[in-house]
Amino acid sequence: MKKKLLSLLLAAACVFSMAACGSENESAGDSGNAAQTSEADETEDGEEASGEGGTLIMATNAEFPPYEYHEGDEIVGIDAEIAAAIAEELGMELKIEDMAFDSIITAVSGGKADMGLAGMTVNPDREKNVNFSDTYAAAAQVIIVKEDSETAGPDDLAGKKIGVQLGTTGDIYAEDIEDAEVERYNKGMEAVQALLQDKIDAVVIDGEPAKVYVAENEGLKVLDEPLTEEEYAIAIAKDNNDLLEKVNTALASLKDSGKLDEIVNKYISADE
Ligand code: GLN
Repeated sequence: MKKKLLSLLLAAACVFSMAACGSENESAGDSGNAAQTSEADETEDGEEASGEGGTLIMATNAEFPPYEYHEGDEIVGIDAEIAAAIAEELGMELKIEDMAFDSIITAVSGGKADMGLAGMTVNPDREKNVNFSDTYAAAAQVIIVKEDSETAGPDDLAGKKIGVQLGTTGDIYAEDIEDAEVERYNKGMEAVQALLQDKIDAVVIDGEPAKVYVAENEGLKVLDEPLTEEEYAIAIAKDNNDLLEKVNTALASLKDSGKLDEIVNKYISADE
């Protein structure tokens, strides 16, 4: 009954604002919609950033499976579901804004988005511009090469042509590799394509998307030894300690209840 009323309200909102319709389509997957039902009957279009029971805007770059990627019209993945679960805990409506990875910190620090979830590694440079929540996932930068490559580990990358996604920690680390030539792409998948076409020798990228890309494309492998170990967290504006505390409390409750593990296990099988 409530759902029916809600969809009527949403339809009415669409008549008044095309923007509102667009944003609904961009919202997260199943649980994203669940989060939207909780408070949506109280909210307006949600153009602006948050308030109690308002809209929680997540900035991301949906080119990073299994953390965030497009599935039809929707943005789905671990981060999308974590954000939806946080929004639900806070009684807010989640809205996802897709943008270039290297725009996310600016969007968050400038108040265009409330939080950045993008498989984003905590690093000191970023900490100058945003605060990070407690971490929610362990990650690593790994090396993808062609199956027949002689590159066997990080030490063999010296002097090689390395593909990375622009502005990522992979980009930062590749830059430090001796005599390496770094090719920067807007999407991780574009770097993988370049590797398949022998335009580059290796791709340095986060471990989970690497697994996805290698599974989807013949003739590639991930080297056993990672380049670095890292941790993902949620970026929040420096002056928004209130949200930082709320997000940390919500994350703690998702960890305690097992919901976080449940989300991760839905996208990453444990035996890999
Ligand atoms: N973890 C990497 C970083 O934070 C890559 C993230 C991404 O490409 N979405 O830089």
